[in-house]
Amino acid sequence: MRFATQAVHSPRHNNDEVGAIMPPIYQTSTYRRPPDGIDSSYDYARAGNPTRTALEQTLARLEGAQHGIAFASGMSGTDAILRALRPGDHMVASMYLYGGNYRYFKQVLAPMGISVSLIDFADLSMVEKTLTSSTRVVWAESPTNPLCQVIDLAAIADRGHSVGATVVVDNTFASPYLQQPLSLGVDVVLHSTTKYLGGHSDLIGGFVCTNDDEWAEHLRLMVKSVGAIPGPMDCYLVLRGTKTLHVRMERHCKNAHTIATYLEAHPKVERVIYPGLESDLGHAIATKQMSDYGGMMAVHLNTKSAQHTSDVLHECEIFSFAESLGGVESLIGHPATMSHGALSAEERANLGIRDSTVRLSVGIEDSDDLLEDLERAFRKI
Ligand SMILES: *Cc1c(COP(=O)(O)O)cnc(C)c1O
Repeated sequence: MRFATQAVHSPRHNNDEVGAIMPPIYQTSTYRRPPDGIDSSYDYARAGNPTRTALEQTLARLEGAQHGIAFASGMSGTDAILRALRPGDHMVASMYLYGGNYRYFKQVLAPMGISVSLIDFADLSMVEKTLTSSTRVVWAESPTNPLCQVIDLAAIADRGHSVGATVVVDNTFASPYLQQPLSLGVDVVLHSTTKYLGGHSDLIGGFVCTNDDEWAEHLRLMVKSVGAIPGPMDCYLVLRGTKTLHVRMERHCKNAHTIATYLEAHPKVERVIYPGLESDLGHAIATKQMSDYGGMMAVHLNTKSAQHTSDVLHECEIFSFAESLGGVESLIGHPATMSHGALSAEERANLGIRDSTVRLSVGIEDSDDLLEDLERAFRKI
């Protein structure tokens, strides 16, 4: 079966008495014990729920994974993966990464005696120099947040494996429709299902998948022991979102390409960072490892200050000035005061985030309306 068919059709769910097309929402905390001799996989809902199983099987198949585990949020997926680390272990991560993961590495992992080296993954010789015999995990994201840097995942997987590290990729920005990191040699894939997989800005969720039996066992133990499980209603909503993932992603990509091309030639725009532009630094690698270029872009505007940039964003009517991404509705954000607001000006400058940088999550509306909306806001510049 091809991707679109797999997205629409979940693997058959259990206990289906009436032939329901959608897996039912099993809103239960516990399950009656079956008579002796009958095997049931469900006993208590922290350990398992059939709606969750349907979601896990569907998403795992889309990523080409044998094992998939759903979590209450993307961050609890991060937490479950990294609980495998022990004091004295070392991790190497891309310096360009989702702010929540950055905070987790600095404020949760580091105090536990786990050292984290944050470096630029575009520089492979730097990656090689930073890896040591105690590096247990290499953590990458591509395209990155918020500056849409594209990282060569096959090359990173190769370098990580050379020291025996597990290579983890946060695939939230691309979604499995555009990129399947396990097929590039990556060991563990993370998603915030809050974003493209759910796709409708109506839930928080996470998902982790792997083909490695030991990692799967670790993740299952963590979800059962720590209990960061998604509820059955949220599992159902992600499953429903996933059915249209391929259709939505096509439109996200098409609209983003239209907008990036328009903004690249705009006098009020200094620079557009979108891997779909031929001029973009990441274009060649993105073409190699992704089937299209996604719905996210960063734009440096010709604004004079953080306040000026934020004033411009407030003028948008269709783009909502808001955190998050990946929903059908277009969102526009200001990394300097939002996702990266807690960093010092110097730290932001090191990451290439300016006061004039905005991040667009291009939705699936009519692209002419989106362009007119940006044009209206640009009158403030
Ligand atoms: C949102 C996000 C996360 C965290 O997921 P939550 O569902 O908000 O916990 C992790 N990585 C990326 C790239 C994200 O965009």
